[in-house]
Amino acid sequence: MQEKGLLIVLSGPSGVGKGTVRKEIFSQPDTMFEYSVSATTRLPREGEVNGVDYFFKTREEFEKMIQEDRLLEFAEYVGNYYGTPVDYVRETLDAGKDVFLEIEVQGASQVRKKFPEGLFIFLAPPSLSELENRIVTRGTETEEIVKSRMKAAREEIEMMKLYDYVVENDQVELACERINSIVVAEHCRRERV
Ligand code: 5GP
Repeated sequence: MQEKGLLIVLSGPSGVGKGTVRKEIFSQPDTMFEYSVSATTRLPREGEVNGVDYFFKTREEFEKMIQEDRLLEFAEYVGNYYGTPVDYVRETLDAGKDVFLEIEVQGASQVRKKFPEGLFIFLAPPSLSELENRIVTRGTETEEIVKSRMKAAREEIEMMKLYDYVVENDQVELACERINSIVVAEHCRRERV
């Protein structure tokens, strides 16, 4: 029988650099994971492509996905819905491939309940002030959104203890190396390299 793939969940506070780390991992030619593209109701940022960065949905479309049970998890975050389409995840795991989710912490808690055997990695900022700096210098958010993202970040950092591993994002390349090593080690531990 085909061995199932590993579900890898990368989470952590907004602005910690989850997106950057994820893009770096997937820009590597020998990446070992399949990326699960999320659905969201937030508007595309400049350069973002539908179906690549996100599946951009209206609230109506997203709520229909919720009703039809087509999401593994979803969360409302700073006024927008974000969620993981479930079919892609299940089919890819069943095909024996590792699936990589990059999601915020409420969604990660929901996934933990449905996939307790998943590998949960928390990406941590070197410090809270560093985190605020990153959110502000990204420059795409208004002051009000920065404040609300910082509040969410403080609460999110509290949840670190629920994860299997904590990776500090002091340097993107190092964080990626640590994540790749964790996954290799986890496969060895589960005896299915
Ligand atoms: P952004 O709007 O900056 O792209 O993402 C905002 C937050 O939503 C980030 O913390 C990101 O990791 C998270 N996110 C992206 N996709 C999903 C998803 O499918 N589910 C959940 N729960 N969060 C997501």
